[in-house]
Amino acid sequence: MQVIHISAECYPAAKAGGLGDVVGALPKYLSQAGHPALVIIPKYKQKWILNQPFERIFSTLVRLGDMQVPVHVDRYTGNSLGFGLLTVDIPGFFDREGIYIDTHTGYGYSDEAERYVLFQQTVLKFLLESPEKPDIIHCHDHHTGLIPFMIKHCPEYRALSEIPTMFTIHNGQYHGAFSWSRSWILPWYDANANGLLDWDHNINPLACAIKCCWKFSTVSGGYLNELRYAANGLESLINMEFHKAYGIVNGIDNQVWDPKNDPLLAYPLVENIDEYKAQNKQVIAERFAIQADLPLITFIGRLVGEKGADLIPGAIMRFLEQGGQASFVVLGTGDPALRDVFMQMRERLWSYFDTSIEYNEQLSHQLYAGSDFLMMPSRVEPCGLNQLYSFRYGTIPIVRSIGGLAETVIDVTQWEGNGLRFDDLSEDALCRSFHRAAELFQRKDILIPLRERIMKLDFSWEKAADTYISIYKTLQPSFA
Ligand code: ADP
Repeated sequence: MQVIHISAECYPAAKAGGLGDVVGALPKYLSQAGHPALVIIPKYKQKWILNQPFERIFSTLVRLGDMQVPVHVDRYTGNSLGFGLLTVDIPGFFDREGIYIDTHTGYGYSDEAERYVLFQQTVLKFLLESPEKPDIIHCHDHHTGLIPFMIKHCPEYRALSEIPTMFTIHNGQYHGAFSWSRSWILPWYDANANGLLDWDHNINPLACAIKCCWKFSTVSGGYLNELRYAANGLESLINMEFHKAYGIVNGIDNQVWDPKNDPLLAYPLVENIDEYKAQNKQVIAERFAIQADLPLITFIGRLVGEKGADLIPGAIMRFLEQGGQASFVVLGTGDPALRDVFMQMRERLWSYFDTSIEYNEQLSHQLYAGSDFLMMPSRVEPCGLNQLYSFRYGTIPIVRSIGGLAETVIDVTQWEGNGLRFDDLSEDALCRSFHRAAELFQRKDILIPLRERIMKLDFSWEKAADTYISIYKTLQPSFA
């Protein structure tokens, strides 16, 4: 069974968050299970893409209103990924450094809708011309949400309409919605299918995908249930289409995230876990103004409300004012106002708090290895991968009980506990967790065996890939 994954991200070619990790791993594990997978993403001006060998295999034009836009598909000719990778090159639209965010302004691109409508059409034109058609089309997030609609309701692409479509919601907050006044950017479609594009008087690619795909999934069962009550306006739609929904917790790519063989770590794990943690923590203490003898509590992620990043400054201030003893590091990019707050804290809380406002893959690995705790005070968390990477690198997660976090982290006071959990979305609750972490750090008799145990937890992709395969088989019974 051949599956094509259509996505805006794929690690290591282009990653902005968890979507990149998933699309860089699931296809590899599908291929290893005997179902060759192909991934197609836009060709951004990203370092990995620029430095790898590609060959051009397809060129055509896509209509955008009155314009005919030249588009191309390139194939990665290296063999380091474990799956096939194609990129869609659309000069003028994707040859930019940032994936979603303009690196010069710090804001999202204003032509997002045009970019992804062109991308999706290029993929479909390519598939129309390909001699071998995929058995399943698997689309990820709103950037590819119009594909299930296009193959059913655009005459140009209808030859693909028999191919089953699966859609995965990695983040239901973002819909990619745009005004009907821009409907001219779409390919010709049956006028009586207007209603499928619409949600709340806008063209809404996420809603459209949920309506038109054959099956859809979210990245944890908990998050799927939460979407029934909180889906940024799509609650009734989720409930209506619930019969075709699945919740599948993401795995992690144990080959990429391997403390013993991680080329991005200063000190990969040899045998002694304490030594590995201490050496990597020392590297962090040299890079950041923190005290290595205190427990190190880290945040890695997008500086946005969704991740609860706005709770961090107040919680840290409160903790230190109450006499708490810990060091803190924040690695992230996002809300410019929050970024300024963290930069000011850096000055005020010298040697207790430091930050690096950037996206830095290497540094994130170093922080997973060298930190004692990793905080995730998320408002919304579809799955969350950071807590799974933390386990693997021997760092204890501090999480709010929500979505995938509630599904994967058990409080240490419970049987088989593996982290620290809190319920309230408040600075106070986060602050109390810092106190719990600081106490736990002193209890080496508990901390050391806990570290050893969480490093052995199995969140590998094999299990999740099998679940996806069983769903694909319901869509293509000839493979059952
Ligand atoms: P998201 O909602 O952002 O996709 P996930 O927990 O699913 O959150 O995945 C986040 C992924 O992005 C992890 O691999 C994390 O290490 C990575 N990440 C987030 N921010 C940064 C950053 N500033 N630098 C490096 N890696 C980051």
